Amino acid sequence: MNDTFRLGRIGGVRVGVNWTVLVIFILVAYGLGAERLPQAYKGLNPVVYALGGLLTAVAFLASLLAHELAHAIVARRNGLTVEGVTLWLLGGVARFEGEPASPGAEVRIAGSGPMVSLLLGLVLGAGAGLLLVTGMDGLVAGCVAWLAAINVVLAFFNVIPAAPLDGGRLVHALLWRLSGDRTKATLRTAQTGHGVGWAATVAGFYLSLWTFSGLWLILVGWFLIVASGLEAGQARTRARLDGIPIRRIMTPDPFTVPGSMTAAEFLHEMLPRHRHTAYPLVDGDVVRGVVTAARIRDEDAGTRIGAVVEEAERTSAEASLAELLPRLTKERLLVFDGDRLVGIVTPRDLTRALERLP
Ligand SMILES: [Zn+2]
Repeated sequence: MNDTFRLGRIGGVRVGVNWTVLVIFILVAYGLGAERLPQAYKGLNPVVYALGGLLTAVAFLASLLAHELAHAIVARRNGLTVEGVTLWLLGGVARFEGEPASPGAEVRIAGSGPMVSLLLGLVLGAGAGLLLVTGMDGLVAGCVAWLAAINVVLAFFNVIPAAPLDGGRLVHALLWRLSGDRTKATLRTAQTGHGVGWAATVAGFYLSLWTFSGLWLILVGWFLIVASGLEAGQARTRARLDGIPIRRIMTPDPFTVPGSMTAAEFLHEMLPRHRHTAYPLVDGDVVRGVVTAARIRDEDAGTRIGAVVEEAERTSAEASLAELLPRLTKERLLVFDGDRLVGIVTPRDLTRALERLP
């Protein structure tokens, strides 16, 4: 899920929203402001209902964010690289690179989100109770109580044992711990996502005969089926690549280019002769990154390619393909043996290797 808007960083974690989050926002703000609140608290100024709906919807999104930030921050403490947190149609996602190193780490990461939701639910519930006791039982108390309830619901919904929900991760950690085989655990857990996803979809169709929320259930079910299928596919790929070092699939001793070369020389002399799409750029002994045909084509003929060099991630020749998989599906990597550049590997090399490998 891509960020449509970047909101900045919270606790060092990049936070963004996908435009589809608007659907949740409108559903909550409208449901409360135009329906629930006017029915429950009659005779108030319409502006008060609208404001109540809007502010509660904002607070709801903030509590979704708190849930995902908990995952992200605990993941980072457990050694994962956190790419960011995004709010979207079905709530939030925290994206990491790689996987938890142990079942224990996975339990901590997966458990932290529901824990925060439950805690928020309890604190907000106590707040709503306090407002009622002190006689301030009005629209504000109603909104706080709604937020409390929805956070408790979120906590319990997320621990449903189906991949890729938090509950599915907890099951995964348990199976992994018991069997010692991460791949097998992932394939098993993916089945839970598949089963629960279909159950939710069927129930959703049935419910949608009477109520709008049936559609929501269909959407959640469909998401579980697709996402758990993807996870199973990734696990199988990783199992095939396990133990294979990156030097087996890299292009060895790649042809390098100097920064002083012009775009025209690159396009009309280098490209036709070598037929690769990306070249390491080396000035003296320093490897500065990668230049790509796609990028250079947009430059003026006289531009020095050193000015448009792109950064490239580095890895060692003995690094395991399975470990590098998340990075390698997105970007090209420069392969080093100590300080020496020995190869380059692109997402296309990976695709070809997967076709070739048993
Ligand atoms: Zn979660």
